[in-house]
Amino acid sequence: MGPLSKLTVAARGHGHSTRGQAQADQGIVINMESLGGQVMQFNTGQLPYVDVSAGDLWINILHESLKHGLAPKSWTDYLHLTVGGTLSNAGISGQAFRHGPQISNVHQLEVVTGKGDVVNCSEKQHADLFHSVLGGLGQFGIITKARISLEPAPKMVKWIRVLYSDFSTFSRDQELLISAEHTFDYIEGLVIINRTDVLNSWRSSFSPQDPAQASKFISDGRTLFCLELTKNFNPDEVDTANKEVENLLSKLSYIQSTLLMTEVSYVEFLDRVHTSELKLRSKGMWDVPHPWLNLLIPRSKIKYFAQGVFGNILKDTKSGPVLIYPVNKSKWDNRTSFVFPEEDIFYMVAFLFHAVPSSAGTNGLEHFLTLNKRILDFCAVAHLGVKQYLAHYTTQEQWQAHFGQRWEVFTQRKSTYDPLAILAPGQRIFQKRASIL
Ligand SMILES: Cc1cc2nc3c(=O)[nH]c(=O)nc-3n(C[C@H](O)[C@H](O)[C@H](O)COP(=O)(O)OP(=O)(O)OC[C@H]3O[C@@H](n4cnc5c(N)ncnc54)[C@H](O)[C@@H]3O)c2cc1C
Repeated sequence: MGPLSKLTVAARGHGHSTRGQAQADQGIVINMESLGGQVMQFNTGQLPYVDVSAGDLWINILHESLKHGLAPKSWTDYLHLTVGGTLSNAGISGQAFRHGPQISNVHQLEVVTGKGDVVNCSEKQHADLFHSVLGGLGQFGIITKARISLEPAPKMVKWIRVLYSDFSTFSRDQELLISAEHTFDYIEGLVIINRTDVLNSWRSSFSPQDPAQASKFISDGRTLFCLELTKNFNPDEVDTANKEVENLLSKLSYIQSTLLMTEVSYVEFLDRVHTSELKLRSKGMWDVPHPWLNLLIPRSKIKYFAQGVFGNILKDTKSGPVLIYPVNKSKWDNRTSFVFPEEDIFYMVAFLFHAVPSSAGTNGLEHFLTLNKRILDFCAVAHLGVKQYLAHYTTQEQWQAHFGQRWEVFTQRKSTYDPLAILAPGQRIFQKRASIL
């Protein structure tokens, strides 16, 4: 329609961004899932991978890969998200300490740029576009295909939870585990504030082998920290897996009586949030506002953050799950568009609030937005060097501050690949230009 058109275009993955990032006001929204369902092409050689459509859901990639005894290496906690949607952000979960985020586990992309060029890109070919698009918030092109790295898939998972009452001990153990060579396969953590039910939340249904023992744990209003771990194994390796788990657990300083363990299939574990989704949907509690806040916090500041936020700002909140776990920066690639703190270890902290629609009380949307603001203000005043993940800002100045020194590169890439700012206007980073002049 030419440079004078105000038309914008947004790719919509599964539409799970919480602030309309996949929308285009008065523009065109492309349903990327309509590209899905094509046959996935597997290479099962020494370094296995699969070529998928960017509109494919990760859950479908898992099921197809398992038919070849393979699976992707790095996940999100919830798999009913598209490849294009998570690669435009990062894709972070409890495997990221070892493999990096999903954007560190892609070999090649096919991208339609904002200029309409269809480009195959990788580390070796059009590398700048490849890195721009990864974590690029949909700003430079629409990903149409991706080549995802795979590994041999285990059949089973030992799923473990242990509790701590002291934050320093908890985080020291987490860091010990993510730094060790032989360690668990998934490492996350949860903060339990004011909850009597310390075991389950909407985030996952964890059914320990000994429910009677589990029911004894009552948080009694205390703040507790739950370390969540898994060890992958195949049925013929059960003795070795048991020994490894025992050995690793013996190095940790959790409250001894709080060890809870279960065994589930690899698919059940990876798809754990969907089980809860189905329950919530049946009660009409899934499609409610989710004022989430995700922060990446440098290791050197995490204790101060925990004291101020868990011990003060959230002290009286019944808040919904709060995740906290460290990752190794060495597994992240700073040539991508993704920005992260400049320390060797940083923490992912996710406040996964959900609000009761129309409530004006402490379970309402306004209340959680105020809490989010208080947390962000606390970080800003104390100069914690925090970066938001899945960030939402309303002005370009805020985005500029978010990108910091990387802003110049980000804007250069924009003018190279989408000079009219047609793409992903819902991120509110650039305004559609009516003309290049
Ligand atoms: C229940 C739940 C749990 C989650 N857990 C995690 C987690 O553990 N870790 C994590 O990292 N994230 C998690 N997320 C967040 C999730 O990764 C993001 O919301 C992601 O954007 C969702 O993917 P989507 O397919 O719904 O993308 P959408 O929300 O549809 O799109 C996201 C952005 O990417 C752009 N986009 C979409 N597809 C493409 C494409 N093909 N090419 C270019 N741009 C595109 C859109 O325009 C938009 O700006 C979770 C979300 C939910 C709902």
